[in-house]
Amino acid sequence: MGNCLKECFLKVRVMIEVFHKFRYINDLSILISFIMPKKDDDNPLEEIQKQLRDLMNNKNVQVAFAPFMQSMKDQAADGDDGGKSGGGSDEKKVEEDPTRDEKLESIREFDRKPKEIRDYLDRFVIKQEQAKRVLSVAVCDHYNYVRRCLDDAKLDEAEYVKPNVLLLGPTGVGKTFLMRNVAKLIGVPFVKADATKFSETGYVGYDVDDLVRDLVKAAEGDVELAQYGIVYIDEIDKIASEASRSGRDVSGRGVQINLLKLMEETEVNLHSPQDMMGQMKAFMDMQKGEKAKKGSISTKNILFIVSGAFDQLEEDVRKRLDLNRIGFGSSEEGVESNTQGINFLSQAETRDFIKYGFEPEFIGRLPVRVACDELKKEDLAEILLSSEGNVLEQYRNDFRGYSIKFTISNDAIEKIAEQAAEEKTGARGLVTVLERTFRDFKFELPSTPVRTFSVDAETIEDPSSSLAHLLEENRDQLDDSMLQDVDRYEEYFKREFGYHLRFRKTAKVAIVKEAIAENRSVRAICERKFSDFEHGLSIISQRTGKKEFTIDKKVVDNPDKELSRWVVESFEKSADSTSE
Ligand code: ADP
Repeated sequence: MGNCLKECFLKVRVMIEVFHKFRYINDLSILISFIMPKKDDDNPLEEIQKQLRDLMNNKNVQVAFAPFMQSMKDQAADGDDGGKSGGGSDEKKVEEDPTRDEKLESIREFDRKPKEIRDYLDRFVIKQEQAKRVLSVAVCDHYNYVRRCLDDAKLDEAEYVKPNVLLLGPTGVGKTFLMRNVAKLIGVPFVKADATKFSETGYVGYDVDDLVRDLVKAAEGDVELAQYGIVYIDEIDKIASEASRSGRDVSGRGVQINLLKLMEETEVNLHSPQDMMGQMKAFMDMQKGEKAKKGSISTKNILFIVSGAFDQLEEDVRKRLDLNRIGFGSSEEGVESNTQGINFLSQAETRDFIKYGFEPEFIGRLPVRVACDELKKEDLAEILLSSEGNVLEQYRNDFRGYSIKFTISNDAIEKIAEQAAEEKTGARGLVTVLERTFRDFKFELPSTPVRTFSVDAETIEDPSSSLAHLLEENRDQLDDSMLQDVDRYEEYFKREFGYHLRFRKTAKVAIVKEAIAENRSVRAICERKFSDFEHGLSIISQRTGKKEFTIDKKVVDNPDKELSRWVVESFEKSADSTSE
């Protein structure tokens, strides 16, 4: 074993040299076979792993340790267990399995109807009726097909056009939200990424295959479940190719081709070329003669949703439609007035997308296309009023966390919606407005006795004046609650240090006044004033056995002076008692 270890370390060192020369190495198996001991030898794996980790820390190479470390832990647990736990790890599996089984079962027995899906989405997503209908049908078709394939293998061999979806529409209107909710309902894993972060090679950025690997991670490593998941790619309009649109990433076309392969059917390796530990582990499993686990995942049944704002496309479609109409003899002025309020993205055709910079094959793999509408002021108000779990609920819960009851008037909701619409970021504007409005309330109110916070239109229009007014209204009570904060400090000090500081009323009032004047919390004032007390009181206590100390206004005004006096007195007292 000793010699073997030395040999391995030597080889790792050589490998480090190699890495320094060649930054990226794709085929790890060469390196692994170089450093690995022969099959029958003991395997000093942990040290090698440590050295590799040190090596990677300084390199521009992504290393995914998690699966590797986990499997090492699992192996260690299996080994250490020695049967003592009576199959404890199996028991754990049994506990976890039902959820996974239930999910797989619901896919195998998928029996949802499009209307049911639409009704479910209605609970969360406001407006977007057309998108809900189209998506519900696509999702039902796809998972019905998956179920039928599982029942009848022959069907699997027939040609199948997957209903991958292209969602068009501005930001923040619920495109992702729709799909997240669909995935949640069906119980399949869901991942989202922006198309802009893909590179063709995978060395510089994020490889399209990583999307599928992320899906496996989202399924907690469960490849079987992941193969039925949903992959959502946003900002797809940003990878329209340079040839057609100016200022685009030159790799746009390449990324489209790569995505095309994924959307059709391909096998994706579970370990990326940069996931060295993953590759190493797979190789070692093979060396150890372990039954080879499936090293790849098929994208055949993964549903792909791509989306984008397609700002310019809207204009292109409008022009095309205008031209057609002019061609039919209507005046240009008439066309302008007739096209008000039309969602032109919903009228985009394959040729528009090709002109925009998409490969015909790519756009051809996205047969289901639907445009989401902009959210108007009324829609934003509706979100706050009726979308389940909307952001206002979060604020309500945040205040509830401090025992503050939060109520809001309809006028206030309208005002929030009005301000949010001006942000022009869809429902995201709601978050912006709520944050801006309530940030100071969230900071101040928890330290006050205010237990009901009623929000009206004025609160939204002028949050700082409203807050000042609310604090003024509660000024008397405010002092009360701050006095209680002194009691809380008294309890804290006793619990933490074992000495009881008995604050007199005059002392409490002095502390509260100071806290108000400095706009600081009572706790902060106390901590500053009594920072040396723990030490001083311990000296006194050692000499006199005293555990309780009265804090009056004099102590609050001059804590250090008073503490020194107490200490000196305690020395005098103990000297007296000894001389006696
Ligand atoms: P995008 O259209 O850019 O994908 P998202 O779906 O990510 O926008 O929306 C951001 C958030 O705004 C969602 O998580 C959700 O809370 C809220 N939201 C957006 N649109 C709607 C909608 N139509 N109904 C209810 N909430 C919505």
